[in-house]
Amino acid sequence: MSTLREILRTAENYLKQHAIADADVDAWYLLVHVFGINRAEFYLHREEEASKIQEEAYWTLVEQRAKHIPLQLITGTQEFMGLEFAVTSDVLIPRQDTEVLVEGVLKVCSQKSVLDMCTGSGCIIISLSKYGNLSKAVGVDLSEKALKVAEINAVKHNLNIEFIKSNLFEKIEGVYDIVVSNPPYIPSGEIQSLMPEVRDHEPIMALDGDLDGLAFYRKIAKEGKDHLIKNGYIFLEIGCNQAQDVKEILQKEGFCDIKIKKDLSGLDRVVSGRRF
Ligand code: GLN
Repeated sequence: MSTLREILRTAENYLKQHAIADADVDAWYLLVHVFGINRAEFYLHREEEASKIQEEAYWTLVEQRAKHIPLQLITGTQEFMGLEFAVTSDVLIPRQDTEVLVEGVLKVCSQKSVLDMCTGSGCIIISLSKYGNLSKAVGVDLSEKALKVAEINAVKHNLNIEFIKSNLFEKIEGVYDIVVSNPPYIPSGEIQSLMPEVRDHEPIMALDGDLDGLAFYRKIAKEGKDHLIKNGYIFLEIGCNQAQDVKEILQKEGFCDIKIKKDLSGLDRVVSGRRF
């Protein structure tokens, strides 16, 4: 039998030995997940012995994390824009960088119709619906399994969002005020060099942007402009070295008023434009 403090310390060391970057943070979050405690309760009870069942459950999860399974896939959730999202291995885990994309759209989306292309977990369209007072919200993905997760998340947040299974705009009808997308944008050749958490556990179809990483931008810009009203906005999340390329793609398709926005680390993260 061990105390809570000992269990946490052992887990931290174990994760460190397995080259988990934020070993102490992850050991703590798993402890919170299994024991259902907060910081104050931990300090109050840390010298007490933990229940055997909980200790075993905790250890099972720590071992999964040591195998580089992402923390979010172990706990099944990720916070994004202050909301909790269910995640599975069928969707990209929402990234904090994507909040910059959502914040950009929030400035212009009141009373507007918004289509989120490659919706994945639904984190973008759900946050926009929650905070943005949209007139209509649609999320699109090719993956049926991803759409199931997005639907679960929309229900969880009590929002009325239409989800459509479609290969990009193939099945999409009508025009929207705003198209937003965080498409797959990693060049195929770079997938192997990603951290194991991403490479081995997140869906490749949410990551792989073909040879130069730009395939989805070309298609979304080309097909998307036919589904935008005049002066309608397009907002695209990009890889930090793709701003110029994506700007040129948008210009080539006739978009104007093109803007590049940085994320919190000062890296280029969003390119937006308006349909001429
Ligand atoms: N739109 C989703 C997100 O931002 C999924 C993105 C993707 O699959 N590339 O999390």
